[in-house]
Amino acid sequence: MKPILPGAMLGLLGGGQLGRMFTMAAHRMGYQVTVLDPDADSPAGRIAEQFICKEYTDQAALQQLGAQCTAITTEFENIPADVLSALASFSTVSPDARSVAIAQNRIAEKCFLQTHGFSVAPFAAIEHVDCADNVKNLFPGILKVSQFGYDGKGQRYVNSETELVDAFVEMNSVPCVLEKKLPLKSEISVILARGCDGSTAIFPVTENRHVNGILDISIAPARIPAMLAEQACDTAEKLVHILQYQGVLCVEFFVLDDNRLVINEIAPRPHNSGHYTIDACITSQFEQQLRALCGLPLGNAALHHPCVMVNLLGDLWQKGTPDWYYLFGQTFAKLHLYDKKVARPGRKMGHFTVLGATVDEALKNALLIQQHLGSS
Ligand code: ADP
Ligand code: MG
Repeated sequence: MKPILPGAMLGLLGGGQLGRMFTMAAHRMGYQVTVLDPDADSPAGRIAEQFICKEYTDQAALQQLGAQCTAITTEFENIPADVLSALASFSTVSPDARSVAIAQNRIAEKCFLQTHGFSVAPFAAIEHVDCADNVKNLFPGILKVSQFGYDGKGQRYVNSETELVDAFVEMNSVPCVLEKKLPLKSEISVILARGCDGSTAIFPVTENRHVNGILDISIAPARIPAMLAEQACDTAEKLVHILQYQGVLCVEFFVLDDNRLVINEIAPRPHNSGHYTIDACITSQFEQQLRALCGLPLGNAALHHPCVMVNLLGDLWQKGTPDWYYLFGQTFAKLHLYDKKVARPGRKMGHFTVLGATVDEALKNALLIQQHLGSS
């Protein structure tokens, strides 16, 4: 494709924090951005050149986006895939509709991964109350809605067929996946970009800790054997080639007790576990998204400092504004706030990163700051 150079208007479907950080990267590089998001409280919409506050399926809004943008990307995986294919008929769009359609539906995602020989947790698609006969070996398990789940939402732990049926009905009998609960040693993710020429750039593997199903901390590089990190990167690279993917993609893995790797899920966009790349890598995941979208060479994804990222959830605001002055006094820390107007519990309001000479030093200091913010 012909490279799209600074000055161009780029379109962004979704106006959340991922879009905001994309927009910031685009602005730094001399591009303009138009955001489409139905939510008026849109962190990216607030800083973009243009904000179209309309539904993702609004035909007039999509036409406007397509007409004024040289290339269009998404930060939100639940954009209906046919919206992406419609836009692709008159503008450059990445990621492509097919990859997004796979990643936004757990049943399609698991079937795709299994078909191509990737290992996933033992699972069964649950689409009716009476399809609970091939599930005997999946308890204890986790029932997950197939679409629109995030941050552990739309998930129930189930220990028996009776609990499964109850949980399925509780989720309004929407299509679900029942997954066997696996013994996790740790969770890691690989974020990588694939350009329009098929070249790839892989960010260092991160180690992710979750609390209540929500990412709490990401540690880069992951403290795992080099062989395992290599295996995770190879798997992610194979996956983007099979998908013929263009853009940034995240592969979440489980590391099992016996060091086996299992793919948990994929996200067709930059990922929370890659926010550390802004402060700790030569190229950030958001710059990389722009480079892949615009047909530019991919940037160097190397880490220049070990780094730990800590999410700041709305819970932290319940006792008032967190002690930012303290954080700013920790000169190795960087604060990122998303300018969301309402701090609800569980809502991602921002994050901070801590750089260190070693990953242990970064982790120690990050945990001290996290503890101070939580207790002050
Ligand atoms: P989300 O889309 O909300 O991120 P995930 O499928 O990644 O949903 O699940 C959220 C978290 O729940 C995971 O990061 C992991 O900690 C835990 N989890 C999910 N599936 C399993 C499983 N099969 N076995 C053990 N833990 C799991
Ligand atoms: Mg997840």
